[in-house]
Amino acid sequence: MPTHFRPEECYQPCQAECRFPGCLDPIQAVADEHEFSEGGGVNPAVDLSTTFTFMKAQDMQKTFMGEMVSEEGEMGSSLYSRYQNPTVEMLGRKLAALEGTEAAFPLASGMAAITCSLLQIVKNFKAQGEDRNTILASRQIYGGTFAFLHDLASQFGWKIRFFHPANPEECKNLLDSNVAAIYAETLSNPLLRLANIPALAEMAEDVGAKLVVDNTFTPLVIMPHRLGAHVVVHSLTKFIGGHSDHMGGVVCSSKEFKNQLRDLHTGFAMLLGPTLNPFAAWSIAMHMESLAIRFAEESKRAMRFAQELKKRQVRVIYPGLPEHPDHTLFKKMRNCVKYGFGGILTVDLGDAQRADLFMEMLQEKMFGLLAVSLGNIRTLMSPSARSTSSELPEEEKARIGLTEGMVRLSIGCSGNEEFMVQRLHKVLDELGL
Ligand SMILES: *Cc1c(COP(=O)(O)O)cnc(C)c1O
Repeated sequence: MPTHFRPEECYQPCQAECRFPGCLDPIQAVADEHEFSEGGGVNPAVDLSTTFTFMKAQDMQKTFMGEMVSEEGEMGSSLYSRYQNPTVEMLGRKLAALEGTEAAFPLASGMAAITCSLLQIVKNFKAQGEDRNTILASRQIYGGTFAFLHDLASQFGWKIRFFHPANPEECKNLLDSNVAAIYAETLSNPLLRLANIPALAEMAEDVGAKLVVDNTFTPLVIMPHRLGAHVVVHSLTKFIGGHSDHMGGVVCSSKEFKNQLRDLHTGFAMLLGPTLNPFAAWSIAMHMESLAIRFAEESKRAMRFAQELKKRQVRVIYPGLPEHPDHTLFKKMRNCVKYGFGGILTVDLGDAQRADLFMEMLQEKMFGLLAVSLGNIRTLMSPSARSTSSELPEEEKARIGLTEGMVRLSIGCSGNEEFMVQRLHKVLDELGL
């Protein structure tokens, strides 16, 4: 169990339903990672330097040789910002606290975190003399991740096999000693099926493979590492940043894996170079302070909107509704009741034309914005099949049940909830739904 979890500080109200009695709400560990600026400012400073001074020439050489160890016993030192930057490290400590992992390496985007992690895992097996190049991936994943695996990595000799996220048996049948990694999103996009992380972790262990989980949709509420995932990735562009102002990603893992990612000779983050800008890192760290209140409020509103839609018999997919196929599993896997079931819900308007009208009318009423992405403080709406999941081939969309009338809503926390409920009903009235 990660050291961040101190039983005496358990968040009481969730005890009754908590699978981990004695847990600490991860936001406390994040808040405890606070740093003051050198001048005593309440906020950490931004270290806008690409290169760093060494007091001893020997230390520079040691860093290049991978022999530099800090007073805290950490490997490496700030040398050049593609390798390590103090502000990016500060954000990394907060993210490691969030996921309960030993280390975290913030990068320039979620895609950088995903691709570098998978490349590094395959490479690490090669370094050990094992030629593993099969990736078992959930078939309900972010369009960019699907494209990377299905269209790009497959051209480099990787074998990609897909399974249904809610059907671990399908994954089990694909297991063999060539599997390097199992890959899933905690909550899939946009159909919101939950990956059974403990079951997938067991399968990965069985064949000596790594389980990589994209936890972008469920920060705070679910901690995949506690459930057995080896590597947890996020797009910081979404909930964690929360304001759609900076791109970012992170790999949360062991210290060893982080050091492999930035190895001067064989590290994919180091050599492909998707470095996070220190200013963006600082800004994301500032926004992280409000993650818990944003996320809890967004979850609460998403639940309310899902119930309102259900009352009108509009088809809505939301894991907080008891009829959602993974509702019970979600309750078993989550940390804290107060974070609800997340801020994303998917509404089925039947056809593309009605879906477009629905979004345009809601935008006109200032309910939300017709834009891709998610996790913003404002509600964002997009037609998944025709936007962020358009990378999926038609037969793949049909297979998973993703249709043109579906609209993904990322519920925001701005404005007044009651006014927003009224606006939603008004639009539904006008559409005759
Ligand atoms: C947005 C997103 C990504 C990609 O992140 P970027 O920051 O856009 O590179 C990956 N996974 C999920 C689930 C996402 O929503």
